[in-house]
Amino acid sequence: MRYAFYLLLLAAVTGTFVSCNQGDTDEQQFKTATVSHNHLEAQPDDTMKYEVEKTEEEWREILTSKEYRILRKRGTELPYLNEYYDNKKEGVYYCGACGKPLFTSETKFESGTGWPSFWQSISSSSVGKKKDEGLFTTRTEVVCSRCGSHLGHVFEDGPDPTGLRYCLNSAALDFKEHNLEDIDPDTLSILEK
Ligand SMILES: [Zn+2]
Repeated sequence: MRYAFYLLLLAAVTGTFVSCNQGDTDEQQFKTATVSHNHLEAQPDDTMKYEVEKTEEEWREILTSKEYRILRKRGTELPYLNEYYDNKKEGVYYCGACGKPLFTSETKFESGTGWPSFWQSISSSSVGKKKDEGLFTTRTEVVCSRCGSHLGHVFEDGPDPTGLRYCLNSAALDFKEHNLEDIDPDTLSILEK
C-alpha cells in the first residue's frame, strides 16, 4: 500500500516537471517575438533606394526562411538562442543578405542582452539608421547601407567611446574569421565579397 503511494507521488512529481518544462518552451517565447514582429511589419513601406535591390521573390530564393523573416521582414530572433551573441573570435561580421562588411570583433562587447552587441560599425557608411515607431516606444532601426536589410536596433546606453549599443540579430549577419591587423580601415578592400 505504502509502495503504491510512493509510485503515485512519483508520477505526480514527474508530471509536474514535464508540464513546467512545457510551459517554458521556445514556441511560447517565439509567439511573443512574433507579436512584436507583426507590429513592425505594419510600418509604411521603405521607399529608400539601395545599391543592391531585389524583389521579395529573389530574396526568398537566396535566404533561408529565418534569414528572410529577420532581414526582409524586420523580425527579431530569440536572445541567447542565436549564433553569435557569445562569439569571441577575431573577425568580421558581414550583412547576411548582400555580404557587405559591417562590424568587426574589435567593437563587439558583452552587453548581457543575449544578442550580439557592438559599439561602432566598421565604417560610418556601413549601416543606415531609420526611425522605428512602435506602439509604446520609438527606436532606431539599423539597416545595411547597401541593401537596406534589417539588422537590429541601436540604443544610446552602450560603452565608451561612442556610448552606442548596436543590438543585432545573428541571423542577419555572417561571421568570418580575419586577422584584423591585415585590414586597411580606409578601403576595407580585402573584405568586400
Ligand atoms: Zn546588405
